[in-house]
Amino acid sequence: MEELLARKLIVEIGKLLYERSYVVSSDGNVSIRLDENRVLATPTMTSKGRMTEDGLAITDMDGKALNDKKASSELAMHLLIYKMRPDIKAVCHAHPPHGTAFAVAGLAIDQPILSEVILTLGCVPLTDYGTPSTNELTESMKPFVEHHNALLMANHGAVAYGEDLWQAFDRLETLEHTAKIAILSRALGGANDLPKDAIEKLINIREKAGYLTESARCQSCGYLHESNIICELDEKSANKPNSNGAKVSFTREELIDLLSQVTNSR
Ligand SMILES: [Zn+2]
Repeated sequence: MEELLARKLIVEIGKLLYERSYVVSSDGNVSIRLDENRVLATPTMTSKGRMTEDGLAITDMDGKALNDKKASSELAMHLLIYKMRPDIKAVCHAHPPHGTAFAVAGLAIDQPILSEVILTLGCVPLTDYGTPSTNELTESMKPFVEHHNALLMANHGAVAYGEDLWQAFDRLETLEHTAKIAILSRALGGANDLPKDAIEKLINIREKAGYLTESARCQSCGYLHESNIICELDEKSANKPNSNGAKVSFTREELIDLLSQVTNSR
């Protein structure tokens, strides 16, 4: 994306995040992937409501500074997402109160209660707690980045990402709005789930309309596993976490052995 436009957009989205109380103080961070090797990111220790276009940091894909501004300490989270998802060009991390309440209570946003959410976002998993700005945090996100477009991080907050910054922000907003409705409906006695066949219809519609790709069928949390929808990418993808989202690790030798078994069995 063109750099001047990207700078304007990050300042604009930062104001929205602050005005909508998705962040306070210097919380949260936003970035745009400018090209293959450069990321434009919000600076450290700065309110997202008071940023200036010339105050933003630029780094390479390893987080190395390419200008004289220091990027947010949580940039590693963004870089992980860009590396795992070449389709993603913008990331928005914040602590929106209702979504974060789910994360603090140890809950994913995975009840099939709103048709629009199934159409545009799918379920939002909860990743294990990891200390911010360390690789504990990025390690706990890894199993979920591929098939989801928004994540909750335990005792921390939320991150959403998209093909551009508006899509990333919209996904964060949908996450927060869904969490708010879920909390309110629980206060009124509980939410009614959509029936299985309605979920399946919505999934078919969202794929035909191009809201989400088939990858979203492989989401590791909640209601997709209760429907008859099958994740066909499961068999094709070696990186896919199992349905519990557990991490699996191999030595180099084990991986080569496994891959040669797969090749031989074809
Ligand atoms: Zn944070």
